[in-house]
Amino acid sequence: MENLIDLHIHLDGSIPLRTARRLAKLEGLNSIDDTELRRRMTVPPDCPDLNAYLAAFAFPLKLLQTPEAVEITTYDLLTELRSEGVIYAEPRFAPSSLTTSGISQEEVVEAAIAGLQRFIRDQSEDIKVHPEHPTLRAGLILCMMRGRGEEAFRASMDTIHAAKKYLGRGVLAMDLAGAEALFPTREFAPLFSIIRGLDIPFTIHAGEADGPDSIRDAIRFGACRIGHGVRCLENPELVELLCKKQIPLELCPTSNIQTRIFPSFDAFPLRKLLSAGLKITINTDNMTVSDTTLNNEFAKLKEACALTSNEMHMLLTNAKEAAFTHLT
Ligand SMILES: [Zn+2]
Repeated sequence: MENLIDLHIHLDGSIPLRTARRLAKLEGLNSIDDTELRRRMTVPPDCPDLNAYLAAFAFPLKLLQTPEAVEITTYDLLTELRSEGVIYAEPRFAPSSLTTSGISQEEVVEAAIAGLQRFIRDQSEDIKVHPEHPTLRAGLILCMMRGRGEEAFRASMDTIHAAKKYLGRGVLAMDLAGAEALFPTREFAPLFSIIRGLDIPFTIHAGEADGPDSIRDAIRFGACRIGHGVRCLENPELVELLCKKQIPLELCPTSNIQTRIFPSFDAFPLRKLLSAGLKITINTDNMTVSDTTLNNEFAKLKEACALTSNEMHMLLTNAKEAAFTHLT
């Protein structure tokens, strides 16, 4: 079995079901059964677009509003990823979306790091007893949320400060997430100039709900990777630029189909992306909201796009090279 790597996975969109059950109880929501929990956390089959997809995060976000919930979810998600054969992951979340109880963004980040550290401790105990079990390495990406106005700017600045404070101590990089079509990437130039000045590496969600210009802006800002980026195919010069710079794209096929970028897996342009020579990686985006796993993404690509074992190996090598951690 291949060693899997997930570079694009949102914590709030990937709360394991058993964890959600526990968090719902902590919130006093005792009467919600598993079917209802799943319904509230998974995107509907007739999801019309990215904005409707983003609406499916309302309930998971509600569950994650305490440091305890963030710690538990980080720990449980890493445990789940390890059990699925993932050897490296970079879970990401927006601290600014998890502060409605009045806690600071730093406290949110500290809680996620505590979950990561508890996972690492328990994993090393487990490996002493079961040396044959695989090891999962992980680090966190902090997302700023797209928005406008002074409040949104201040929230992003708090995320930047938290990222700088914990960089190399659990946090690896930053990201920009949210409604790309409503708030174009170019509007975030001042924030990325600050981030560059602080030497924080970053990826940007671009070329998902918005087109090639969004990706071009992300490259201009100095993004090390592009979240999705699949719409680069609309512009041959941009494809050439991405190839020349070997900027990795974090593809998330199921998510793209649910947000209606492509009508089905058969229409996912895997072969075009591969033959263009783009440095692509395969990721889940949101395991619970999208009801997927990395194994499922690869299985679907094998079935619908004739992905070969050699190609899968190459995609995982791309992911290894694109990681924000130096992986040997
Ligand atoms: Zn994403």
